[in-house]
Amino acid sequence: MIKIDNIDKWYGNFHVLNGCSLEVERGEVIVICGPSGSGKSTLIKCVNALEPIDSGHIVVDETEVTAKGTKLPDVRARIGMVFQHFELFPHKTVIENLMLGQIKVLNRSRDEALKKAEGLLERVGLADQADKYPSALSGGQQQRVAIARALAMDPIAMCFDEPTSALDPEMISEVLDVMVELAKEGMTMMVVTHEMGFARKVARRVVFMDEGEVKEIAATETFFKNPETDRAKEFLSKIL
Ligand code: ADP
Ligand code: MG
Repeated sequence: MIKIDNIDKWYGNFHVLNGCSLEVERGEVIVICGPSGSGKSTLIKCVNALEPIDSGHIVVDETEVTAKGTKLPDVRARIGMVFQHFELFPHKTVIENLMLGQIKVLNRSRDEALKKAEGLLERVGLADQADKYPSALSGGQQQRVAIARALAMDPIAMCFDEPTSALDPEMISEVLDVMVELAKEGMTMMVVTHEMGFARKVARRVVFMDEGEVKEIAATETFFKNPETDRAKEFLSKIL
C-alpha cells in the first residue's frame, strides 16, 4: 500500500532523512517511534507530499507520489493526516470542518457531505458537538474531530503524527480508543507515537528512527523485549 524506497531529504545542508525505506501493507498498522528530531514527522509529511524529497521513491497504492506529473492534491486527498495540534479550521463549526474538504475537493453535494459528516461524528462520539466551534471543545474532542474530518475524505490510509502528545492525560485514551477501532476495521495506518500500549494493542511492527535513519523495523513484541540497537534500548528505557 505504501512503499518508501531509499529516500533522502535535506533541509539546506542538514541531512534530515538518510536512505529511509519502509513498506506498509494494506490493512497494516505500523508505529514509528524514536527520539525527538530523528525525522519522524518529516517522513510522514513526505508520504503525503507535504514535503518534497531529494532522492528515492514513494509509492502509495500504485501511484508514485514523487513522480513528475503526479497530481499532489489527489495524493493528499487519499491519505488522511492527523497532527499533534489538531489543525482544525477555527472559524468553522465542527460539522463544517467535516464537510468542507468533501465539497471542495471531492465535489460532493452539501447533503451528501452532511450525511457523511454526521455519521462520522456519531462514530467518534461527538454527534452532540456538531454546531460548536473547535475552541469550545476539549483537546481530546478536537482531536477526535480531526480524525473524523480526515475519515470524511474516504482515505485509503491514515497517518498520525503524535496525535496524543498535546493532550492532557485523561483525554489520551478517548483518542486512542478511536484509533484502535479504526485499526480493527482494517485501516492502513502509520502512527508516530510513544504510546507503547497502543503499539502493543494494534501494531504488527514498530519502526525505530534515529538521526534521520530507519534503524530498526521489528515485530512489536520483539522490539520491546529485544531491541537490536543500543540506541533503541536506551530510548525504550526512557519511555517505558
Ligand atoms: P521528529 O518528528 O522525529 O521530532 P522532525 O522530522 O520534526 O523530527 O525533524 C527532524 C529534524 O529536522 C530536526 O532536527 C528539525 O529541527 C529539522 N527540521 C524539521 N523541519 C525543518 C524545516 N522546515 N527546516 C529545517 N529543519 C527542519
Ligand atoms: Mg515530530
